[in-house]
Amino acid sequence: RLEIRNLSRAFGGQVVVDHVSLKVMPGQVTCLLGPSGCGKSTTLRMIAGVEMQDSGEIFVDGQLICDTVFRVPPERRHIGLMFQDFALFPHLSVGDNVAFGLKGPADRKRARVEELLDKVGLRRFIDEYPYQLSGGEQQRVALARALAPKPRIMLMDEPFSGLDNRLRDDIRDETLEVLKAEDAAVLLVTHEPEEAMRMADEIALMRNGKIVQQGAPYNVYNAPVDRQAVAFFSDIN
Ligand code: ATP
Ligand code: MG
Repeated sequence: RLEIRNLSRAFGGQVVVDHVSLKVMPGQVTCLLGPSGCGKSTTLRMIAGVEMQDSGEIFVDGQLICDTVFRVPPERRHIGLMFQDFALFPHLSVGDNVAFGLKGPADRKRARVEELLDKVGLRRFIDEYPYQLSGGEQQRVALARALAPKPRIMLMDEPFSGLDNRLRDDIRDETLEVLKAEDAAVLLVTHEPEEAMRMADEIALMRNGKIVQQGAPYNVYNAPVDRQAVAFFSDIN
């Protein structure tokens, strides 16, 4: 379970994340949805621990992992990351990519790698190299790699934006299935309302650094908070 309270961040006097509060439950996908530049990635980077907040707190499973004085380093936050440009290691096989963040005996690592590659339907590629895979397959390997250490929290920043439309639909569905099976608490960033409607259990609509509306996709879509929200959702059909 992920909880952030009143997270804020300014760059050069400009507030880009403004008192953002969110809760994400295990097995649930919360979408941080909003137009380009509204502060989505900055919010995610603070949760990942690669950007420091000016104020606010971050909790994982009820435990404080970061405020303005105390800070658990990124690698000890039990957070999985998946970004569009978060490439696979080209010199490592598919299996070694997935095993990268794993510790412990080799046979245990191997079992986990096989389990995940089964889940994403790519076990047969275990000894291949990333360049031998299509973009969609690489994205599935990236998902398997992010989930391998059983993160309690999964942060995804526009992970499907490099894929063509048809493939994207398939991968979204598959990704959801795998995420739910692993019971991760997922925070997914997107600027596409359609993606949020398709994937989210909960949508947090963000604008100018603030969350302006939050709720189930159906409710956010059917009862937009203001005219800007209406306009933002209007390009879905
Ligand atoms: P997009 O959908 O285009 O990815 P976003 O919602 O993820 O947008 P952010 O990347 O969080 O937006 O950026 C929010 C604002 O903060 C932008 O105006 C950006 O220029 C600014 N910003 C982000 N990181 C920095 C930085 N390190 N230094 C200065 N300004 C920054
Ligand atoms: Mg971004």
